[in-house]
Amino acid sequence: MKKIIRMIISSAMVTCLLCSCTKDNAAVDNEAAEEKPREVTLILDPNAGAAGTEENAEQVKPEESQPDDESGETAEGDGNASDSPEGTAAEDGDGDEGTVSEPSAEADSGESEATVIDGLTVSTVSLTDSMTYASFSAIRTGSATLYKNPDPARGKYVVCVNAGHGTSGGQSVKTQCHPDGSPKVTGGTTGAGATTAVAVSSGMTFGDGKSEASVTLAQALILKEMLLSKGYSVLMIRETDDVQLDNVARTVLANEYADCHIALHWDSSESDKGAFYCSVPDVASYRAMEPVASTWQKSHALGDSIIAGLKGQGIKIMSGGSMAIDLTQTSYSSIPSIDLELGDKASDHSERRLR
Ligand SMILES: [Zn+2]
Repeated sequence: MKKIIRMIISSAMVTCLLCSCTKDNAAVDNEAAEEKPREVTLILDPNAGAAGTEENAEQVKPEESQPDDESGETAEGDGNASDSPEGTAAEDGDGDEGTVSEPSAEADSGESEATVIDGLTVSTVSLTDSMTYASFSAIRTGSATLYKNPDPARGKYVVCVNAGHGTSGGQSVKTQCHPDGSPKVTGGTTGAGATTAVAVSSGMTFGDGKSEASVTLAQALILKEMLLSKGYSVLMIRETDDVQLDNVARTVLANEYADCHIALHWDSSESDKGAFYCSVPDVASYRAMEPVASTWQKSHALGDSIIAGLKGQGIKIMSGGSMAIDLTQTSYSSIPSIDLELGDKASDHSERRLR
């Protein structure tokens, strides 16, 4: 899995460098949605126990605790982080400098050096009505976390890491498939022809009972650490079991704050068919619809690059490396954006492999 993560990192960066993104300006324009940036020193300990446990996530990012209360979903507020439950602020340090460290597993004496990042700023970011496509979101009270890396060369590139699934109540709410209201051109979780789809599906369950959502979370936390240790900035959509952000909201935040968007998933088939990404269907009307029209080729470049890299590292790849699926994510993405399926129900998803 380290190979996979490394290839994602290098491939994502190639695309970011190519796509002439202007997200810095966007982030500045939306400062109001970014709450209380605080500066921390992050210590990434490669000898730590399994990343992806909530314990790890909370130590890196004590800011966020998503509300379970679904009553918040109907709120028409601006989604600012002030919606967060009380009690989290006390842990934030209110912008004070601090040291945030990954827990070290029983002093596994130094297989490798910990990476220390001084001056990392951490802030929660939420939807505001002014963000493009925000009005299409139905579950939007949660917030994501933006880790701004001070690295002078790479820190300006923000990778959105989106751990697929993990939105309580997401299955019982629907959102519009396409911003122009047109019907889906392929099947997926929702069939072709539908104009609305499940806001966030619950994902599949592996044979051993592990949920896809828990595995994508573990992967996302590992990817975050590796990106930060390489100097990049990261937008984490979800770092706990639940975030009240549907697929539209996740995409809107990625569009606003990141340069590329990688959603992590495992497919529901049971053949260990290999990794692939979801490409944009070759349907003229769909590819002509904005923001798909302006984005799909860059998304394919990102997906192709990651898949080629994985293949080169000996990772099993599904024939062709991609599958054309009309997804909410790519239908609303204005930055290079892919749904990456890293395997399926029958693939090895053990902690050892994730690490
Ligand atoms: Zn999935």
